[in-house]
Amino acid sequence: MAGLYPNPLAWIDSELAARRRGGLLRQLGQRESPQGATFTADGFELINFGSNDYLGLAGDVRLARAVSDATVSEGWGSGASPLITGRSELHRQLERRLALFEGTEAALLFSSGFVANTAAVAALVGPGDVVFTDRKNHASLFDGCRLSRADVRVYPHCDCQKLARLLAKAASPADRYRRRMIVTDSLFSMDGDLAPLHALADLAEQYGAMLLVDEAHATGVFGAHGRGVAQMLGVEDRVHIHVGTLSKALGCVGGFVAGSQALIDWLVNQARPYVFSTAPPGAMSAAAMKALELVGEAPHRGEELLDRAARLRERLTAAGWNVGQSESQIVPVMLGEPQAAVALSEHLRSRGLFVPAIRPPTVPEGEACLRISLTVGHSDEMIDRLIESLGSVSKR
Ligand code: PMP
Repeated sequence: MAGLYPNPLAWIDSELAARRRGGLLRQLGQRESPQGATFTADGFELINFGSNDYLGLAGDVRLARAVSDATVSEGWGSGASPLITGRSELHRQLERRLALFEGTEAALLFSSGFVANTAAVAALVGPGDVVFTDRKNHASLFDGCRLSRADVRVYPHCDCQKLARLLAKAASPADRYRRRMIVTDSLFSMDGDLAPLHALADLAEQYGAMLLVDEAHATGVFGAHGRGVAQMLGVEDRVHIHVGTLSKALGCVGGFVAGSQALIDWLVNQARPYVFSTAPPGAMSAAAMKALELVGEAPHRGEELLDRAARLRERLTAAGWNVGQSESQIVPVMLGEPQAAVALSEHLRSRGLFVPAIRPPTVPEGEACLRISLTVGHSDEMIDRLIESLGSVSKR
């Protein structure tokens, strides 16, 4: 029998149509070959400038072997949440290894970087607290802020003066909060620029705030042994909560929080996705340990990648493209309107290059761009082809 009301999901069609008209519709694509500097999609080989596999480890057979050996010996599924019986010896070893890597007392493994961020923020602040977040922080930090039910203050991108004013206001007797926390990406995932971590650490100390730094895109690339931007800038010891992901330069999947033993003990008790979700497979930890070993054996690869990225930015700038404030292997080509970004991305695709168009809501309105993600797997010829193909556009 037809219901009394029209289809309650009918609104979705009109919402999707509006997104299509605005050049904002997202659609699934899929690779037909392994992750690498090139991949096949729809039967065509494309040069891959859309991967976070910065050190080319995702397809490394040594990680695959670590996974298969661990799976054969301990099985695939973990069977329970970590606090019950899901945490295996491999997870414990990886957490120890991550703490050593980060130079902290302890570390805790999560099923993704997204989960690590949301879980950590929501566990550390709550009603009666205030959290300060950079406008361009990753969605997972924003979601953690919202989930926490703390008051959220968004400061303009990297604007420490504005942040100082917000902190001062929150410190005034009329507005007193129980706890304060500043959260920031260290390397911003779309603009490729770096957070002013010195100034943020100064402000955190001045106002007694906790400082959480998400090193998702910097781990494995920046700093000595790939320890991240905080290490490179010498502020590691002033960061209270280090978040990282295993899913980008380390070529695996998973996220982690590193810091004091007390911090980790608190998260074990309070981080809801840790407590109430099944532990990731132990084999995932085996792969991550292998990846950390490989990064340790070739500590200069990150630096080499950054040198190549600097040359790419110079060439793009010389060709008249705006690469914004990028200082990293993430190089945006700023275009403004989403339609322009989609058109350029499609043009490059027709020439055998995959460079994703990044549109709102991933970036603010008017800041659509192409996001070039450089990895160690890109040859000089591939980079030349990218520059040439972009050159053919500016001349049109
Ligand atoms: N933080 C930042 C800055 C990110 O860009 C991402 C992923 N895009 C994440 C966290 C989430 O990490 P994961 O992919 O491991 O969930």
